[in-house]
Amino acid sequence: MEDTVLVVNCGSSSLKLALFDNRLQKRASALAERLGQDDAFARLGHEDTPLTLPPGASHNQALESMVEVFRERGLMNSAPIAIGHRVVHGGETFREAALINDSVIDAIENCAALAPLHNPVNLSGIRATLSQFPDVPQTAVFDTAFHQTLPKRAYLYAVPEAWYQDWGVRRYGFHGTSHAYIALEAARLLGKTPATTSIISAHLGNGCSVTAIRDGISVDTSMGLTPLEGLVMGTRSGDVDPGLFDFLASKGMAADEVHRSLNQRGGLLGLSGQTNDMRTLCELADHGHEPSRNAIDVFCFRLARYIGAMMASLKELDGLVFTGGIGENSARIRQQTIDNLNIFGYALNADLNDHHGEYSDGRIESADSRYPVLVIPTNEELMIAREALQLSDNAPM
Ligand code: ADP
Repeated sequence: MEDTVLVVNCGSSSLKLALFDNRLQKRASALAERLGQDDAFARLGHEDTPLTLPPGASHNQALESMVEVFRERGLMNSAPIAIGHRVVHGGETFREAALINDSVIDAIENCAALAPLHNPVNLSGIRATLSQFPDVPQTAVFDTAFHQTLPKRAYLYAVPEAWYQDWGVRRYGFHGTSHAYIALEAARLLGKTPATTSIISAHLGNGCSVTAIRDGISVDTSMGLTPLEGLVMGTRSGDVDPGLFDFLASKGMAADEVHRSLNQRGGLLGLSGQTNDMRTLCELADHGHEPSRNAIDVFCFRLARYIGAMMASLKELDGLVFTGGIGENSARIRQQTIDNLNIFGYALNADLNDHHGEYSDGRIESADSRYPVLVIPTNEELMIAREALQLSDNAPM
């Protein structure tokens, strides 16, 4: 039986596990949902039959049950040799992944003011695995770390400087693990080295962000202090006029209600009034549902605007990459976005686009496109497993 590496992604009421072997081939995955509620359950891979969890199961209990199932199925016979955790916010403290010890835990706690919904739950995942596997080296991999290379001109907001000095108000950027993976994969597919490859990476899932990567380094990104800024997303509004807050206050809307609306009732869901799911929206639009068509139009136009804006940070462009559930699967969204960018000379080959670049090393641009355009499936879990395995070599014995 080979050694394993465990990847843990802990949400407020969910826990995702991915199990890799020591050559970083994925061996299994498991997902627990509705944690803390009476109907908590877990599922192994794509199996239909859920595993029962005790009512109100905690992250710790879910972890124990899922690891037990990995063991019963012979997927994991002993403790993993390394554990990697996704942590949302590393502030300015973490420019790269970190081997977890008491001071790293304190620093993640200190960053919680910037991500109150995420860092505390990420920490509960870390504590759960520490109590079950106290002797295994564990690594925290931060969504923000890849963007710590942003220059000041890209990360400073034009607000009183003391807000930055005293409270850390600046742009941090997120989805860093995905954008970093895409930068490496794009270089490989383009036959270049990462350190000489410049791309624009568009991660389009439920959350969406675009990043300009110059010579392998993040130099601008669309998300900011929080993951709310930038593109239109599933339920998040992305950019709005800051004057909106005052206006809504004058209508009697409390700050927490504005926050909830912009995060959970905006984006594709808000515009369409129907769903945050892009696939369903495309079907509704095909059946003549006007608000769904508007939602798609706003989504693609905002994305195109941001791609245009990202070009200002690059000296050269080796390719534009689409990734995430929407970016990888929707030929229509890619086409409509590129149609908005014709002035820059981007153009797609319809056939390659329809096949999502599967038979063309990811490439979907037409012969006369000024720049390559690629579709690359992202793999954040693999990046986390890779970092965890690498750092575990440096762990004190
Ligand atoms: P998450 O950010 O939660 O990981 P994903 O990356 O899985 O999300 O992306 C989910 C989004 O991808 C959903 O809006 C879903 O509808 C969309 N999607 C998946 N397949 C398609 C498709 N064939 N066409 C359009 N959208 C799709």
